Amino acid sequence: MFSSYRYSKSLRGVGGMRDFITREKAGELAEKLSAAGVDSVHIGGGEPFINFAALCGLIEALGKRGIGIDYIETNAFWAVKESFVRRRLRRLRKLGVTTVMPSVDPFHIEFVPLGRVLLLCKLLREEGLDYFIWQERYLRRLYKLDHGRTYSHEELCEILGDDYVAATAREYGIGMNGRALEIAGGIYPKRTAQAFIKDGETCNLLSPRHCHIDLYGNVVPSGCPGLALPLDEFLAARVDRGRYPAFARLLGGGIGALYEYAAGLGFTPDGGGYATKCALCFNIRAWLNENHPSPDIAPGCFYIAMKDNKTGGKTDETL
Ligand code: SF4
Repeated sequence: MFSSYRYSKSLRGVGGMRDFITREKAGELAEKLSAAGVDSVHIGGGEPFINFAALCGLIEALGKRGIGIDYIETNAFWAVKESFVRRRLRRLRKLGVTTVMPSVDPFHIEFVPLGRVLLLCKLLREEGLDYFIWQERYLRRLYKLDHGRTYSHEELCEILGDDYVAATAREYGIGMNGRALEIAGGIYPKRTAQAFIKDGETCNLLSPRHCHIDLYGNVVPSGCPGLALPLDEFLAARVDRGRYPAFARLLGGGIGALYEYAAGLGFTPDGGGYATKCALCFNIRAWLNENHPSPDIAPGCFYIAMKDNKTGGKTDETL
């Protein structure tokens, strides 16, 4: 999957900006993927429709190399004015896109009214594009709500029950990482860092089955935001231990090896414990990012956003 967009701030916290994949980077990545035999990808974000020009540039670059688009993910925030949506869908169809995947669930409805998803689906049908809703069951459950507005977390607790966040995460099979680490904290009992290390699990970070490529050209292993490896290294299954110390250790020895590396540099674990090994992993990486940064602990904006708890933000400013 391609992530074409990421909310980003400077690593040093000076100002803020939004980064999008450039045509040059899209072309470069398409060439490498094509050479590696990749013939289709899906596109996600962030939210790829925030910058439609960048999205189209990416699709064109992939198309030039014969790489098709399985589907494009969207939260449908942009589906407000019918004529505007139709124009975009027609452009996508001309570029060879056949399928869009709108998201519906109790998390998205805090930010995007259901009516926008419904409008997008209707126009997709009318414009001859396929779609599938991720996930349909939530559409059925949320359909009874007012389609014209969003719902706060407090309102959703009343409607769906106080435990809806944990229940949805379990049901959804959400990878408990990134912002979902907070959810994991509410579900699982805390264990010490040593307990996770003793489990001795390794992490299959080079699996080609499902991985993401971010807008900077780094591979983000599935379910491990904040870890990054340049596409060339990933394709060659080559991880330089000196240049990518965290990635190499996780790959070779799992969380235990990462812990050993960080402890040797001065990291001390949280005495309160961790809900999951990924929570421990994140804590170690966040510490390394501040104290011993390396290019595999990236992008910096992820760690800043996690710290500030500001990964969301308004998304409909381009309308
Ligand atoms: S422990 Fe770290 S590398 Fe392993 S799956 Fe969790 S986040 Fe990914």
